[in-house]
Amino acid sequence: MQRIYFDYASTAPADPRVIEVMQPYFYTQFGNPASPHAFGREAQKAMEDARQSVARSIGAQPEEVIFNSGATEGNNHALFGISRSCKDKGRHIIISAIEHHSLEAPAGYLAKEGYKITYLPVSREGLVDPQQVQDAITNETILVAVMHANNEIGTIEPVGQIGRITRAKGIPFLVDAVQTVGHIPVNVDELGADLLTMSAHKFYGPKGVGALYIRRKTKIVSFLLGGDQEKGRRASTQNAGGAVGLAKALELCLGNMSQEMATQTRLRDQLLTEIPKRITGVVINGHRTSRLPNNAHFAFEKVSGESLLMSLDLAGICASMGSACKAGAMEPSRILLAIGLPDELAHGALRVTIGRWTTQAHVDCLLERLPQMVKGLRG
Ligand code: PMP
Repeated sequence: MQRIYFDYASTAPADPRVIEVMQPYFYTQFGNPASPHAFGREAQKAMEDARQSVARSIGAQPEEVIFNSGATEGNNHALFGISRSCKDKGRHIIISAIEHHSLEAPAGYLAKEGYKITYLPVSREGLVDPQQVQDAITNETILVAVMHANNEIGTIEPVGQIGRITRAKGIPFLVDAVQTVGHIPVNVDELGADLLTMSAHKFYGPKGVGALYIRRKTKIVSFLLGGDQEKGRRASTQNAGGAVGLAKALELCLGNMSQEMATQTRLRDQLLTEIPKRITGVVINGHRTSRLPNNAHFAFEKVSGESLLMSLDLAGICASMGSACKAGAMEPSRILLAIGLPDELAHGALRVTIGRWTTQAHVDCLLERLPQMVKGLRG
C-alpha cells in the first residue's frame, strides 16, 4: 500500500540535497570546530559560513545567531535566560494562550517560582489582539512571547504590530517561528523580534538542529554551561554538519519560496473548500486568509478524532489531530479550547499539513476517501 504523508507540520522528510552537503561532516571533515588544527579549522569555517547564510535569510547579523538542538531548546533558553538576566527588573511575562508546549511549559515552571504569567486570549480565528498586549504590559514585564504562526490551526499572528509595541516599551520580544521559517518570509526587523526560534526539520533539514536568534545587546543568561562554544552562549561540541544542513535547507526554501507558497496555498484551499462541501457537520479552524500555506484544520461533529486518524492510517493516509496524546487519554487540545471550540468538536479534530512532496493526486485521494470514513464512523 502506498502511504501518503499529511503531517508536515509535525516533521518533514529531509531534502536529499541537504543530506548531500552534510555527508562530508560525518566522514572526511569531521573535526571539532573548537580545535585549532586543520580539521577543526575546516569545520569552524563551515559553521561560520552556515551562520552567515542563516543570518542573511532572516535579516540578522551572524553574531546574533546561535546553533542549538532545536526550538524546544531555543524556547527554554529564551524563557529561562531572560528571566534570570532580568531578575532585578521584574517578574512578569506575557505569552499568548496558544504557544507551543516548549514555551508554555517553561513559563509554567517560572510561574511556580513566583513569576506572574499573563496568558493573552485569542479570537475564534486564533488571533492575538495587539491592543491586549499593550494593555497587559506593566513596569514589571520582562518578556513578551507570541508565536509567528500556530502549529495546530495555522493562524499567522500580527507579530509585526506586536513587535512595534514591545520595541516602544523596550521589552524583549520572543517569536517562535518554527512553523514559518522556510515557509513564508521571516525578517527579524519586520517582526520586531529580539529572540526568534526555529527547527531545521520543519523545513526539510535534519532533526535535532535549530537556531536561536538573539538581537544584539539583549541581556540573556547562557542555557548550557561547561564550554565557551557559540561565544559562551551555548556549551557543547558544535554540530558543524547540522549547521550546514540547516543553512542549506533554508537556502533551498528561500530559492523557491513564492512558487512553493503558491502550490501549497492552492492545494490547501482545495481542502478548505471541498471538505465542507462533501461532508456535513464540519468546521474549519484557524484564520481563513492569515494562515500558513500548508495548513488545513477541521473539526467534525460526532466523530472521534482518534478513530478518524486510525481509519485514515489503515488506508495509508497519515495525518494528525494537531496535538499529542497526554498519558494515554486524549484530552481536547488546549489550542482548540482557547479559540472557543466546544469540547465535542475539539474531540473531532483533524489537521492536514502539506509540503514539498504533496501532489494533486494525494489531495484527490484524501477528498475521495474522507467522506466515507466520516460517514462510517458516524454510523
Ligand atoms: N514550536 C512550535 C510552534 C512547534 O511546532 C514545535 C515542534 N512541533 C516546536 C516549537 C518544538 O520544536 P522541536 O521539537 O524541533 O524542538
